[in-house]
Amino acid sequence: MKQGYDKKAIFRFYEELNDFLPAGERKRDRIYYFRGNPSVKDAIEAQNIPHTEVDLILVNGRPVSFDHKLKNSDRVSVYPVFESFDISGVKQDSGPVRDSRFILDVHLGKLAKYLRMAGFDTFYRNDLKDDEIIKRSVEENRIILTRDKGILKNSLVQKGYYIRSQNPWEQLKETILRFQLQSSIQFLSRCMECNGIIAEVKKKEIEKFLKPGTSRNFDKFFRCTNCGRIYWEGSHFTRMKQYYKDLKTFLDDAG
Ligand SMILES: [Zn+2]
Repeated sequence: MKQGYDKKAIFRFYEELNDFLPAGERKRDRIYYFRGNPSVKDAIEAQNIPHTEVDLILVNGRPVSFDHKLKNSDRVSVYPVFESFDISGVKQDSGPVRDSRFILDVHLGKLAKYLRMAGFDTFYRNDLKDDEIIKRSVEENRIILTRDKGILKNSLVQKGYYIRSQNPWEQLKETILRFQLQSSIQFLSRCMECNGIIAEVKKKEIEKFLKPGTSRNFDKFFRCTNCGRIYWEGSHFTRMKQYYKDLKTFLDDAG
C-alpha cells in the first residue's frame, strides 16, 4: 500500500475520458489510493476528469450515482456522455439534451457566434467571471462550454463540456456531435451579435437605415428582435451559407 493511504480502488476510464489522462496512463487500469470514504465523484475528479464529462459509473458492475462512497478494493468503470453503445437501460438520469442552451467561457467568442449562426441559444460575454458563468448556467439551465477544466470541477456545475479543439469551426462541429444537435440546427435564426431571435422584416420598415447600394441591390431583409441589427443576403450572408453547406456535408459524413 502506498504510504499515507490505507485503501485502494481500481479505476478504468473509457473512450474520450482518456483525453484527460497523461499519455502513458490511458486505456488501462489505474490504481487509486485513498483514505476514509470519499465519494466516487471526488475520486474521479482527483484523477483530473471533470464530473461533467461522466455519464455512467459502474462500481463492481453496478451503476451508481456520483455520491456513492468508495470502498476498499472497488473496481470502478467510468464512461463518458454518449458512449457509442446503448446505455439507456442502466442510465441514472435523463437522456441527451436536444433543446440545448449554452453559456461559454470568455475565450470562446468565435464559437459563440457560430453557435448562434446555427440557431442555438448561446450566452456569451467577454467579461464574465467563472462564478458568474456557473451561477447563470444553473439558473438558466445552460450547458457550460469551456477550455478551462477548472470551471467544470466546481461542484455547483451541473452540465458542462470541455471543448477539445482550439479551432472555432471545429469547436462548432464538436459541440453539435457531442450533444447530438444535428437535427436542431436552425441556420440564421439568431443574431450572431446578441443571441436575439431574427425575423423577416419588410423592406419599407427599415429602408431608412440602409446604405443606398444595399437598398438598391436587396429586397429581402431580416432584423434582430432584440438589438435591431439588420441582416440581408449580401456577401456576409453568402459566406455563412457556404459555411452551413460545409457543416451539413461534414455532419452527414459523420453519420
Ligand atoms: Zn441582435
